[in-house]
Parts: sequence; C-alpha cells; structure tokens
Amino acid sequence: MKKKTTKQQENKKKTPEAKAPVKQGSEKTETKKANSVQTDAKSTKTEEIAKSELKMPDRKCSDKKCPFHGNLKIHGRVFVGEVISDKMHRTVSVQWKRKKIFRKYDRSAVFTSTIKAHNPDCINAKEGDIVKIAETRPLSKTKNFVVLEVMEK
Ligand SMILES: [Zn+2]
Repeated sequence: MKKKTTKQQENKKKTPEAKAPVKQGSEKTETKKANSVQTDAKSTKTEEIAKSELKMPDRKCSDKKCPFHGNLKIHGRVFVGEVISDKMHRTVSVQWKRKKIFRKYDRSAVFTSTIKAHNPDCINAKEGDIVKIAETRPLSKTKNFVVLEVMEK
C-alpha cells in the first residue's frame, strides 16, 4: 500500500509540471490535499466499524471475548471470507482470495489469505459458512480477529 501511495503522489506532482509550469506554492497545496484525503479514508474506515449496523445474535453467551455480550472492542480492518476449519475450541480459520497486480510484468496472480478468528458461542460459525471478521486486540498467540456475523450458511 505504501508504495502505491508514494507513486500516486509522484504522478500528481509530475502532471502539473508537464502540462504547464505552475508556481511552487500551488504544488505544496496539492500535496497537502492528497495527504488529507488519505487521512479521511482511514477515519471513515474506523467509523464504519463503529457505526455499522451489526446484527445482534439471537442467542446469548457468557464469553468474555464476545463483541456483543463480553467486553471486547472492535477496531481496524474488516474482512469477509469462508470458514475452512471449525475444529478448534471457539476458533475458526477464515480464508479469502485476493488479487495482486504486477504492473512491471503486466500480469496478475491470485493469493489466498488465511486468518484465525475467535468464534463466540452465540455466533457459532460452522465449516463452509461465509463470515465477516473484524480486527481486535490479540486474543491469543495467533488470534487477532473475531467473527461478527454469519452472512451465508
Ligand atoms: Zn455472545
């Protein structure tokens, strides 16, 4: 991500010079604008999680690490993926595909990401479900995510 942003900024800087020679002051304002846009995008992401209409599960549970009935706060990234394993205790493995583009070689490749997420008793996602997961504090050595809802069974 960092590389992309820097490239975009470079492009934005280059384009006005190529078209017409502009004063230095205007360039500075443009870079400032670009920075402000980036920060806005970040803030909206976190707001989406806080404001997003999360489905309250029908069942209740007494899990401390539950985002609905415990005291677990959600922040950061949100992903949607398929549960590929539910054999661990209150833990699921969630996998999804992501496409990476190599512009240098004009090719693209598909990679899979697998992440372990906490599966509270009230949600109880099973193998094959499509689930939404959100980032949270480290819950164990390998778990930093929690299942929010089962989107498809
Ligand atoms: Zn719960």
